[in-house]
Amino acid sequence: GKPRVVVVGGGAGGATAARYIAKDSKGEIDVTLIEPSRMYYTCFFSNLYLGGFKEIEDIGHSYGTLASGGVNVVHDWAIGVDRDAKTVTLAGGATVAYDKLILSPGIDFVEGAVEGWDLSAQNAMPHAYKAGSQSELLKAQLMAMPEGGTFAMVAPPNPYRCPPGPYERVSMVAHFLKNNNPTAKIIVADPKPKFSKMALFQEGWANNYEGMIDWIGSDFGGDNVSVDANAMTVTIDGEVTNVDVCNVIPAMKAGRIAELAGVTDGNWAPVNAIDMSTKADPDVYVLGDSSQQGDMPKSGFSANSQAKVCANAVRGALTGSRVFPAKFANTCWSLIDTNNGVKVGATYEATDEKIAKVDGFISATGESADVRKATYEESEGWYTGITTDMFG
Ligand code: FAD
Repeated sequence: GKPRVVVVGGGAGGATAARYIAKDSKGEIDVTLIEPSRMYYTCFFSNLYLGGFKEIEDIGHSYGTLASGGVNVVHDWAIGVDRDAKTVTLAGGATVAYDKLILSPGIDFVEGAVEGWDLSAQNAMPHAYKAGSQSELLKAQLMAMPEGGTFAMVAPPNPYRCPPGPYERVSMVAHFLKNNNPTAKIIVADPKPKFSKMALFQEGWANNYEGMIDWIGSDFGGDNVSVDANAMTVTIDGEVTNVDVCNVIPAMKAGRIAELAGVTDGNWAPVNAIDMSTKADPDVYVLGDSSQQGDMPKSGFSANSQAKVCANAVRGALTGSRVFPAKFANTCWSLIDTNNGVKVGATYEATDEKIAKVDGFISATGESADVRKATYEESEGWYTGITTDMFG
């Protein structure tokens, strides 16, 4: 029969890979996508939803176009991988055979990473680091904050998905509070001494949200934190604070199915840069956040870029189609305030060791309002383009 590709995870990496293999192989390859959700809510632009710049519907994408484009979309969880038999087991009981398996399951949280927090506390103290109901919950809590209340964030240690994500979120929360609850305060406990686009964010916070945001890095005890979801307190370096909202973003690792497949080093899945195949198994590929690939940040843009390289290589391996040299790109945009966008990005190539950075760029502090507005508009165009590239 035809060669079979199974893709686990219909997010940024998996949806792109499934769509490209089905589209470009023109029916020569059977492509099955396993994804439990009927609607995928992008984490990208979920902070803009918190800030009031987007509606939740604007960041939701369904799988109908993938299905009509030839992808066999199965809404179920993959719960096991047998790499000898080359099969994937689904929670619903089915077994699906593959010649090539592509895993793009995103992230899971490291257990016990933040003292006092586990998944049972995620309703009182949401992470909103997987978008959808968690994003809606965090927004509802933000809107219900009492006048002059306190919003706390526990930021994650490196490496994690979307390096500027927590700080864009702080900006969007501050934007909302400035307009709706101007005496409210934001505290950030951060286990790191510095963070992505730090100078740009700190300049933006000083200019737009003066006195509202207290960022406590590891040099000041931000790495010594615990929470109590019943008492709604955060303890930073021994000091207990009562908070009204607490956004806990724990340390991350590869999605569990990558671990179950036995292709991780315990946290992440080491891959070969040339095609995203795992070091553990040449027929199992890992894309996006779950992979350990080298210099690229964990982002939707990166996952999409890696998926296209992988799709091209998998097609070549199965049908003999032409394989192009691996080239990758990423840009991470962040919105600081209305029409005030900043960005950081780079291009990459595959070396024997890793995906290696070639050239990079970053917005400058002190840029004009026109440049910042153009950067924001560029991010809007990127969102439309990339979600079409992923979901059709
Ligand atoms: P995901 O997109 O998370 O997809 C994983 C999918 O796998 C999910 O749909 C999940 O349901 C499914 N899955 C998991 N386990 C299983 C299983 N066992 N069986 C079947 N399916 C499974 N990136 C950008 O490029 N730009 C941004 O502006 C940006 N902003 C962000 C802001 C925030 C607040 C956050 C949290 C992230 C942001 N990101 C951004 C990062 C981006 O969302 C991720 O890097 C990207 O989604 C990673 O793609 P992925 O395919 O690895 O995982």
